[in-house]
Amino acid sequence: MQSGKIQRRRVVLVVEDQEINQAVLGDILEEDGYEVIYADNGQEGVEAIEKHLEELSIILLDLMMPVMDGFEVLERVFSDPRMKRIPIIVLTAEKSAELRALQLGAADFITKPFDMHEVILARVSRMIELNEGRQLIQATERDPLTHLYSRGFFHEYAEQVLHFHPEWRMDAVMLDIERFQSVNDLNGREFGDRTLRQLADEIRAFLKETRGLAGRMEADQFYILCQHREDYNEVLARFQTQMHSLCTRVNVSLRMGVCPCREGVDLGSVFDRAKTACNMVRGSYKTHLMVYDESVHQRELYYQRLLNDLRSAVEEHQFVVFYQPKYDIQVEPPRLRSAEALIRWRHPELGMVSPGDFIPLFERNGLIHVVDNYVWTQTARQIGEWRSRLGITLPVSVNLSRTDIFDPELEGELLRLIQDNGLSPTDMKLEVTESAYTDDGEQLISVIERLRKLGFKVEMDDFGSGYSSLNMLSSLPLDVLKMDMKFIQNIEVNEKDFRLVELILDIARYLNVPVVAEGVETENQLRLLKQAGCDLVQGYYFSRPLPPEEFEALIRQELELRSRA
Ligand code: C2E
Ligand code: CA
Ligand code: CA
Repeated sequence: MQSGKIQRRRVVLVVEDQEINQAVLGDILEEDGYEVIYADNGQEGVEAIEKHLEELSIILLDLMMPVMDGFEVLERVFSDPRMKRIPIIVLTAEKSAELRALQLGAADFITKPFDMHEVILARVSRMIELNEGRQLIQATERDPLTHLYSRGFFHEYAEQVLHFHPEWRMDAVMLDIERFQSVNDLNGREFGDRTLRQLADEIRAFLKETRGLAGRMEADQFYILCQHREDYNEVLARFQTQMHSLCTRVNVSLRMGVCPCREGVDLGSVFDRAKTACNMVRGSYKTHLMVYDESVHQRELYYQRLLNDLRSAVEEHQFVVFYQPKYDIQVEPPRLRSAEALIRWRHPELGMVSPGDFIPLFERNGLIHVVDNYVWTQTARQIGEWRSRLGITLPVSVNLSRTDIFDPELEGELLRLIQDNGLSPTDMKLEVTESAYTDDGEQLISVIERLRKLGFKVEMDDFGSGYSSLNMLSSLPLDVLKMDMKFIQNIEVNEKDFRLVELILDIARYLNVPVVAEGVETENQLRLLKQAGCDLVQGYYFSRPLPPEEFEALIRQELELRSRA
């Protein structure tokens, strides 16, 4: 319980008529190693002071109390030379009372409702220190790992900076390590700790060149208050470079959110906004820095709206599953082989909401499962329905999010859907994005191996956007490679991109899996891919994702071809 920072148990007298406040203060103080004595009103307070005159280190004094109020206690104490040596911190909710109490000799005040515990403890210990003229407590202010300030102290000192220097233009900056949990899991705690220390060192170096201070909050969240600047790209790049120099093998990626301090916006809110900005770039491969401004604010409101509306969207069937065909291009004419299920949200007021907006949002907020489960259910039902009505079993792939994969219910849910609709596991394929494989490593691989044993086919989505090494790739469980769209976009004009596509096709041959090229839009792209030996193509060239009624026309075409063959 006690961290050993108080050499001798200091005795605190709490004079306070409200039981709840007594209890709160008592808990905080006792937890930190103080001995606490209580008095229920001013009268009892003065008696307790008399009685414990020699032991008392400090008095916490409420101002509004029955029988004898705090002001009178202050007057009594300061007119008595024996009592006067004991510092008094007043507990108050009113600004006006503060001043009068300080004039009467109170050393400091704590505002009600009570501040953060660390702040209260800091004030109490600082006052005892001042009174005893020596250092009492060293440990709490600093985070032991990085020696930056810990939470409460960071906030208190940051408040003071702003309070004493209202003319300084300052920014709140939040710095976070992308998926720190997996960095830890994959490389060990020791490596994680080293990463945090290295980053803290660089933050300190940065702060030497500008005004400011920094603290570490949760494991990998760093808060910085520093002098305003227009552009943070360089600052982020500097921190990022440090991360790379620590270890080139492990990709430790940082993200940063910034919010300039403004008059009338309290510090807590400014840091909340910096955090919001920081969270908006979470999981993004392109953007790692965001400055909070009006557009971020608007987006935040929009996202909040989407989060609030999720439940009714499910209940009112605002989600619709669209299907985009995948064609075999090595035969002439190309033949429909399968499809991908892609969700659409027809919002009654916002219109069509793009999955590019809400999928990452729901992933971040742990709600994606609701959506994915909806899509799987609809898709399984649709495959079964086409089979019984049109006599064709067209395999459709669904997307799995990273968090779906770690859901212990996943296998059971998928199997139940398959059974309920009289399908076989090969009829509903599973797309898993490459970055999930590389970030979550072993655990993900074992889930995927189990799914494959059950008969499911797994497609690695967005291949080429993550960081699989060749070496790693050969041991990953997968049945199909889906090449990331960005490789296709420029193959007509960029020789290098075309070489990359050829290389990917070579890799796939080596792994003995077919390749789907996504995002094919032009005839030229199609021709080049066909030449290079690509098996399957999905893209606007053939069709955009279609609602089920329209997709049926493609199925009928395929049936037509089959009947002629
Ligand atoms: P994705 O899985 O890589 O899906 C392919 C995206 O590319 C789809 O965007 C599709 O409409 C688009 N696309 C297809 N052909 C072309 C083309 O020729 N040109 C261009 N420019 N784009 C093409 P969409 O439907 O907006 O989905 C975006 C992303 O949202 C998907 O990327 C996927 O990551 C996610 N997503 C969509 N539906 C679901 C779902 O049900 N569950 C989960 N977890 N994610 C989903
Ligand atoms: Ca996909
Ligand atoms: Ca994809």
